[in-house]
This record gives sequence, structure tokens and C-alpha cells, in this order.
Amino acid sequence: MRKPLSIPCIIDGCRRSIGHAAALKRWGYVPSEYICQAHWSRLPKRQRQVWARHQRLERKFGVAPKPEASRRVWSALCRRAGL
Ligand SMILES: [Zn+2]
Repeated sequence: MRKPLSIPCIIDGCRRSIGHAAALKRWGYVPSEYICQAHWSRLPKRQRQVWARHQRLERKFGVAPKPEASRRVWSALCRRAGL
């Protein structure tokens, strides 16, 4: 059963999740979707860097300067991590 106040890994069949408190501690906010460490480490470094850049800009400006691009990068990461 899914614990309340935790975000499951976005990859189907993955049973890892992160608690809201842990997410806040790690990123300073609670994401709506989450890729666990195991799946995250499967992603190519370049792709992770692209995402990091988007995150950095979002932190800097308080909002995502290019929300659609960020969204696209994120879905690419999810697709790739699930392979
Ligand atoms: Zn996972």
C-alpha cells in the first residue's frame, strides 16, 4: 500500500518512493513526479545536466522561465529511465 505523503518513483513497477519531508530536504520543494536514485543513475550524464540547468533557472527566477521546455525535458527523462 502506498504511504501517504510520499511520492512514488515514476517508473512502472518500481517500488521506491520519497517522503515529502525528504524531498523538501533534498530539493527545497515537493515535486509532483519523482525518479528514484536507481533509475536516475541510469540516465546519461548529459541529459541529467540539461535537467539540472532547467532546475537551476527555475530556482533563480522562482518560476520556470520555459515551463514547456522543462516539461519536455522531464518527460524525456522519464521515458529514458523506464527503458
Ligand atoms: Zn525507480
